[in-house]
Amino acid sequence: MTEISSLNLEELKQQISELGLPAFRAKQIYEWLHKKNVDSFDKMTNIDKALRQKLSQQFSISVPEIERKLVSKIDGTQKYLFRFNDGECVESVLMRYKYGNSICVSTQVGCAMGCTFCASTKAGRVRNLTAGEILGQVYRAQTDTGERISHIVLMGIGEPLDNFENVVKFLEMVSDKDGLNIGQRNISLSTCGVVPNIYKLAELDMQITLSVSLHAPFDDMRTKMMPINKKYPIAELIKACRDYVKTTGRRISFEYSLIKGVNDSPECAKALCELLKGMLCHVNLIPINTIEQSSYRKSDRKSIEDFKKIIEDHKITATVRRKLGADINAACGQLRRESKQMGL
Ligand code: SAH
Repeated sequence: MTEISSLNLEELKQQISELGLPAFRAKQIYEWLHKKNVDSFDKMTNIDKALRQKLSQQFSISVPEIERKLVSKIDGTQKYLFRFNDGECVESVLMRYKYGNSICVSTQVGCAMGCTFCASTKAGRVRNLTAGEILGQVYRAQTDTGERISHIVLMGIGEPLDNFENVVKFLEMVSDKDGLNIGQRNISLSTCGVVPNIYKLAELDMQITLSVSLHAPFDDMRTKMMPINKKYPIAELIKACRDYVKTTGRRISFEYSLIKGVNDSPECAKALCELLKGMLCHVNLIPINTIEQSSYRKSDRKSIEDFKKIIEDHKITATVRRKLGADINAACGQLRRESKQMGL
């Protein structure tokens, strides 16, 4: 069966004409899928029943089912465990900000990158998500809450630049005027540093924000935390980032998770500033989330403040990320692991 949710309008028109149907049908179906976010052909009420039946025999729609949902009593953050047609699950988190609703979506089932502090990668990568499956997370959360989603971050389970084609297609479709029409400036893509694909992304010259998970300013330290650093060490990564800024004119966000006694010293802060010198960038400091499978602990408040001050003294802007959904363990990919272990 062809997955209809992953076809852009051109591709859908092509498929529809191959079925011998008039072109306006493609536009109608596209609207049902990508503007009204329906999860079945039966809901496409301006299409006659016989045709709906025919379509449902040929095509599948990949809006996931809600397997579990946790709602934070503190700030209304909602964490979903979504299940796709083949039974595989991923997590998405809906966060409510003053400027609107933001969703954090997954790009793969599991992850192959092996970062030592991250729960999502502990059992490796199962498969890539399709463009339609990434869209489906946004659509299901939006229909479930009845509230518009205006911002997206690709920071859930998976490495977006390890699923390049599907992710780029997702970015194009979600920002398309025939779809949800979410401005690319409201979308952030986070990568652990798949250098060749940072160059490829730069060439597309999109308006999205690139976030780079740096987490350490020294190669030996970073390699211990993030195996990808063996393949693409810091100097190469920073060179790619400088190229990205030059090509796109967009500011890069560097993510830096602070781990007590590991990467939170003043020397680390200074070395970080040295690396980022003169670059159009911003630093996000994140107190690490403790996960079951690792002995890393959060830095204390004073080290975090000192770290931030050093960065700001070097004229680089920095924020300490506010934690949302603390009572529902909103970060980390732990819900999927938990469900798998319980055999759900
Ligand atoms: N693979 C991509 C996107 C997914 S992870 C990437 O590596 O950027 C999203 C962010 O959460 C990354 O910055 C990642 O390093 C960070 N992260 C993962 N586990 C974490 C943890 N336990 N505590 C704090 N941040 C974590």
